[in-house]
This record gives sequence, C-alpha cells and structure tokens, in this order.
Amino acid sequence: MNSLNRNNILGVDYHIHTILCNHAGSSMEAYIKKAVSMGFQEICFLDHLTLTEPGHEFSMTPEEVPLYFNAVQMLKRRYIGIINIKAGLEIDFNPFYVDLFQKISGSYAFDVIGSSLHFPGGIDVVSRKSEWSRGEKDSDYIYGLYLESLDKMIDHSYFDIVCHLDLVKKFGGTPSRSFENEFNCIIEKISRKKLTVEVNTSGYIHPAEEAYPSFDILTKCCKSGVEITLGSDAHDPESIGQHYDKVLPLILQAGYRHVSVFTQRKRSEIPLPAGGGNDWSKG
Ligand SMILES: [Zn+2]
Ligand SMILES: [Zn+2]
Repeated sequence: MNSLNRNNILGVDYHIHTILCNHAGSSMEAYIKKAVSMGFQEICFLDHLTLTEPGHEFSMTPEEVPLYFNAVQMLKRRYIGIINIKAGLEIDFNPFYVDLFQKISGSYAFDVIGSSLHFPGGIDVVSRKSEWSRGEKDSDYIYGLYLESLDKMIDHSYFDIVCHLDLVKKFGGTPSRSFENEFNCIIEKISRKKLTVEVNTSGYIHPAEEAYPSFDILTKCCKSGVEITLGSDAHDPESIGQHYDKVLPLILQAGYRHVSVFTQRKRSEIPLPAGGGNDWSKG
C-alpha cells in the first residue's frame, strides 16, 4: 500500500479498458483493486466499441455490450463505499453506424459515453503496425482527414466526451502547415455543444511524449469554457493514473480548477488539488 494523503490527490481515472477489447490484460477487478490501493475515489471503465474495419477485432461486439454493462454494474455494487465505479464506452466514430451508436448509448444506463477517432476515413492512425506509425503516409493528408472526420463526429450527439482530441499526433508525424485554425473551429464547436474534452495521459508513453490534447489546445478549451475529464487509457492495472504527476500542473496552468465526473450521463465536478495533486508514489 502506498502512503497517501487522501485530501491532496486527484484519484479519478475516466479511461480504463478491460479484457473484452482483446488487447488489455487482467480482470476488471484487478483494475479496481489497483485503483483502491492507490487511494483513487472514482474510476470509469471506458472500453472499446469499434465497428470499423480495421480495428473491430480490438473491441467488444455490439452483442457483448450487455455482458460488459452488467459486469460493471455488479462490480459497482460490490465496491460501494470503497470506490465509485462508473460504466462507460469508448465508441469509435464511424459515420455508417451512428444510428446503432445512438441506440446502444440510449438502451443502457451508462454513466458516460466517449467518442474517439482511431480510423478516420478507414485509415489506421493508432496502431504501431500502421503505415502512419511508420511515416509512410503524407502528414498533411492524414491531419486533414483526421480533422475533417473529427468535425463530422462532433456534429453527432450520441456521446458526452471527446477522447484524446489530437490523437493524430501519436507517432510524431509533422504536417508542413499548422492545423491551428481547424483545431480552433473544433474547440468552438465542442464548446457550443457543451461536450467534455478528455485529458488522456497515454500520450506520454507514445512518441508524441505529451498528453492528449496538447497544452495549447487545453488552454484554448479552458478559455472557451470547455469542461474536462482525466484518464490514463490504461490497458493494464499498472497504468492507472499514469503520468498524472506531469499533467496535473499543466491542467492547473491551463486554468482549470476542477475535472468532470458523470453519473448516468449527468456531469458533476471534483475540485483539483491546488498543488497539482500527485502526492502518491506508485509502487
Ligand atoms: Zn482510444
Ligand atoms: Zn482507450
């Protein structure tokens, strides 16, 4: 057990995967036990629902959604009074399945629905084995495609959170021009639609070496009144809360004083600890 100061940590992780997505290890309960041992107060399973080719093999199927939902509900009850467990989905945007996404997100009492973009226009921008990761795709083309697809995603209303907003930077490919205007328009649209942006710390373990989104985007989000959640994108229990020590000071510097949590799609707030909130040592 780590030494903890429960009043001075931000023990919230809103992006945790499970074994159902076929590329994460350990049981759901192992994630919960790890989070409890770290003094976390609330975690949210946000497992993949990807129906795009390629990518669907790393996801639960629509038929598995009830199984997943019920498994989280059972754990939620088991850990009452110890840690808050929330049930969410990370839905991979695909314009051809929006009706199904709407139906699924409306049929179960999920606490939160996130939407992300791993395969804009059917192109893989997330896997290490992709052409994009090997630098074999034109950066301007991929950035353009990613931002155009993101803009379309945000037109829809089946979700609450935009996950890893600038994931396109994952492998470090640099476009020849700035896509700042496109990002600005997207932030503006997110603000108008009152969507929440996720701060995702998995970027620190990718070639991008920083959180998603960048500090610049995060600062603009704050100025535009966009709320944030915080998550590690853990695919193993050891990654819960990864790199919070690096990101929490940046979140404060960007102007935020709280992060959002959700209960049955309703947002509420948890204050950020003034000192950056990383008073635990991971062991
Ligand atoms: Zn993702
Ligand atoms: Zn994820």
